[in-house]
Amino acid sequence: MGKYLNNTKREFQRCVNCVMDTTDSKIVFDENGVCDFCNDYKTNILPHWNPSDDNPELEIVSEKIRKAGKGKKYDCIIGLSGGVDSSYLCYIAKTIMKLRPLVFVVDTGWNLNVAVKNIEKVVKKLNLDIYTEVVNWDEMKDLQLAFFKSQVPYQDLPQDHAIFAALYNYAVKNGIKYVLTGANNATECIRPPVEWVYQNDITLIKDIHKKFGKIKLKTFPLCGMIKYRLFYPYIKGMRRVAPLNLIDFDYDKVKAFLQEYFGWQSYENKHYENIFTRFYEGYYLPYKFGYDKRKCYLTNMILTGGMTRDEALKELETSPYSFDLIQEDKEYIAKRLGISTDEFETLINGENKTFEDYKNSFKIIQFGTRVLRSLSIEKKKFR
Ligand SMILES: [Zn+2]
Repeated sequence: MGKYLNNTKREFQRCVNCVMDTTDSKIVFDENGVCDFCNDYKTNILPHWNPSDDNPELEIVSEKIRKAGKGKKYDCIIGLSGGVDSSYLCYIAKTIMKLRPLVFVVDTGWNLNVAVKNIEKVVKKLNLDIYTEVVNWDEMKDLQLAFFKSQVPYQDLPQDHAIFAALYNYAVKNGIKYVLTGANNATECIRPPVEWVYQNDITLIKDIHKKFGKIKLKTFPLCGMIKYRLFYPYIKGMRRVAPLNLIDFDYDKVKAFLQEYFGWQSYENKHYENIFTRFYEGYYLPYKFGYDKRKCYLTNMILTGGMTRDEALKELETSPYSFDLIQEDKEYIAKRLGISTDEFETLINGENKTFEDYKNSFKIIQFGTRVLRSLSIEKKKFR
């Protein structure tokens, strides 16, 4: 059994509308037992989100991108993982938006064969150029092992950060103004709580690596929040566009379409596109910390009408993936990280820590986000 160390202070409570509960220790319930995720969705997301297939906004954005890219080899760049969202984004960009994207792939050393195949199929069928950035494996391995030794929950951070940073660094360096992202409200409007998923804090990455790493990070892609939020957009003119929020994005329909159009293959779970993520989300996080990220995905489905609460609760009762495969993944990951399965087991059962046990920029990032948010609200008011 897992330890659930962080969740001992509160009595267990689950939202009456979705499946989020007090395993997020900061969850807030209103007097009707509805959680802040549900209320935030109702008041802050839904009113500003009107997806439809004839949304004029999509063509307006497309034209802007085409115009800015005139005379250049590519007018935008798309990070492709081989999953539903980014594969469909490539299709939309090329055939509906009539853009000339460069497909950008990051090889972190963990990609499943099925993801690699999907990427090949999408690129070939749409006749797109592809650039693959291979992260230095020795550095990747060293940083990931350092993270396991640090005992924080966010074991996907090194990989996620590499994918994120490599894309934006490449775009800006090569003068590609528009970065198209597959981010979308239909499947991702419920952001996992910060204590479950903590992202893109290079102060934390560097501190953990300094304490537990063995080799220097010379080429590992890094992009701090000041660079990403301020320097890139305001000095370098980088623009981020999320087209999937401008169209009617029905996850199941899109999946069926991808299968038919590309011969695309699905994974057992939306986010299990690589072995590391599968092990991390399906085993490490729920076992060691009691955090089950499926609760966020399922809540997303409930709020956007793709599933009932009862169906979601039933799914949560099943194990994320089979015991045999967990064991297999555990052995495989230990071997790739250069440690024995016993050593890995010891690390997994070590004392749980959080980002607060290390140097971090949490307060600065939060403050910056608040300032930027209030600025863009101000702008809207005066338009
Ligand atoms: Zn809720």
